[in-house]
Amino acid sequence: MPTPDQGDTLTFGYIPDCNDPGALDAGDRAWCNGKDPNAGVNGRKTRISAALDSMALLGPPCDRIASVVRDVLAAGHIRVFHIDTSDPTAYKKGGFARIGEGSGGYILLQDTWTDSFYDRKRSGTAYTYVNNVRTTYYVDLQYALAHEGDHLLRNFHIDDKTPSNPNGIGGLTVNSEHCGGF
Ligand SMILES: [Zn+2]
Repeated sequence: MPTPDQGDTLTFGYIPDCNDPGALDAGDRAWCNGKDPNAGVNGRKTRISAALDSMALLGPPCDRIASVVRDVLAAGHIRVFHIDTSDPTAYKKGGFARIGEGSGGYILLQDTWTDSFYDRKRSGTAYTYVNNVRTTYYVDLQYALAHEGDHLLRNFHIDDKTPSNPNGIGGLTVNSEHCGGF
């Protein structure tokens, strides 16, 4: 079953089936080639847990987002992927989570978050358009976890590309900056 785009009809509890390679789309391939951060590579689990601890300290709604992401991590349903540069059709976004799946969902996370931009001292900036106004925002691992966790709690992007916001990139959710600690 291909990974649906954000906002598609929900199938709760769905995890990509890596035993059915013919059915895999780019996002599913990234998932199937990804690694569970619980394996401990590069201190990923420690970095994710530290980011979630900081997020929880920010209070509602960040504590709830952190709690859901912690559940997903504990279930082994976060996978960290590396962009396959040999594949022109490879998944290249920073992450993915399906809208509204809560603790039963999964999170796909690009390794740049866990391995490079993993704390406040190692944050970066990006820009998008919100209501057609150019907006700069900070990004790091905590931001990425807040963004994907927000999706699990049924929050969509606030900057998607639409006819009235043609330069939006889908980088922001309502809580991604605040709960990202910025
Ligand atoms: Zn998103």
